[in-house]
Amino acid sequence: MSDQQDGGEAADKKGGFLRGYFQMTLWKRVLIGLVLGVAAGLILRAAFGPDAASAFATTWIKPFGDLFIQLIRMLIVPLIFTTLAAGVMAIGHPSKLGSIGAKAIGLYMITTLFAVTIGIFMGAIFRPGAGVDFTGVTPNEIATDAPTMVERLIAIVPANPFNALASGDILAVIFFAILVGVAILMLRDKGKAVGDVIQGGADIMMAITGWVMELAPIGVFALITWVTADKGLATFTSVALLAAAVYLGCILHIVLVYGGLVRFVLGLPAVRFFRGIFDAQAVAYSTSSSSATLPVTISNARKNLGIDPAVAGSVLPLGATVNMDGTSLYLGVLALFAAQAFGIDLSMADYFIIALTATLTSIGTAGIPSASLFLLATVLGAIGATPEQTALMVGFLLPFDRPLDMMRTLTNVTGDAAVATAVAKSEDEMDEEIFRKVTVV
Ligand code: ASP
Repeated sequence: MSDQQDGGEAADKKGGFLRGYFQMTLWKRVLIGLVLGVAAGLILRAAFGPDAASAFATTWIKPFGDLFIQLIRMLIVPLIFTTLAAGVMAIGHPSKLGSIGAKAIGLYMITTLFAVTIGIFMGAIFRPGAGVDFTGVTPNEIATDAPTMVERLIAIVPANPFNALASGDILAVIFFAILVGVAILMLRDKGKAVGDVIQGGADIMMAITGWVMELAPIGVFALITWVTADKGLATFTSVALLAAAVYLGCILHIVLVYGGLVRFVLGLPAVRFFRGIFDAQAVAYSTSSSSATLPVTISNARKNLGIDPAVAGSVLPLGATVNMDGTSLYLGVLALFAAQAFGIDLSMADYFIIALTATLTSIGTAGIPSASLFLLATVLGAIGATPEQTALMVGFLLPFDRPLDMMRTLTNVTGDAAVATAVAKSEDEMDEEIFRKVTVV
């Protein structure tokens, strides 16, 4: 903010301030929004007491956050369809598409297995379920009619693609977009006209994402103020051991697995990676939804990490839907929580079952707030917990889930970006100059 401030008119000063604000890198503005949000939430609680603070924040502040979420949700379906189809077209060759897809899916699976293993260790070390008192907890209804694996696989093929687009059925949209992209690629000249339209659509959606992102600091501020005013920091202390296990596990996973992948396997500066995706992390943390964060993740990957649009547009939408490392880590911790709380003895085979069911459940989890909590039955059922016990646990955890969901969603999104970086680097589809560029203040 070294601009000429002639010290005269207030309007000029205001202009200088605004200019300075917009010149500041987005991630710093988002960070300021986040910190101010926590402060504002705590001040509201201290000034008016928890109930009034919560009511005030819900009525007057949360709507600004909801508006921001609504704006990014508006972008999800058209952005996924156009960037994915355009991404596939830009890959240029079906065999390259195969290698990008195989690498992405392979890495998604490997990182998820690391995550659930860390989750199991955290659950064993912190023992969050030991001595938990369930008296007075109202059991929560749990889904018992979840679709089977085969039904889920079949549903990936949309019976009506327009229906899938209209209802936001993301996996089905992904499937159709890939087919359209491949067909355009194969038809060459004949498909060019439609290909140009789709490419134009993708550019338009990215431009709108850029505008919406300018509102991120305000959206993040509003959402964090509301969460803090509504839940307070005490949310963490009531389930302190569980929160510690989840937060520490996620931080370890992010630093060791993603940091290690970027630094030691790819040979890129890890700090630069984390700085490049900070906006996406902050939006994930405040919205608790990896799907809602997707437009921001794609934009960060392209602009800050130098990932080619073809790779970002194809790997990230898939990751936001199937790759949920924070979620699988959380499910690992919860499985041990349940075993400790209900006195279930776990054998070595049980640990494998936990790892397997948590991985599969995390793949099937929708990228929306608290989604995984309601799928807990799959993991707990596999280690012998009864449906009543699961319902009791969901009822117990639900009031505390938000801050835990925030952290696992942040981890989910970071994992998508780390894998996209790895795929881009190994396919030579990355502009390293952009990645390594130190952001100017
Ligand atoms: N909220 C998470 C996400 O959107 C899913 C979950 O673990 O509940 O990534």
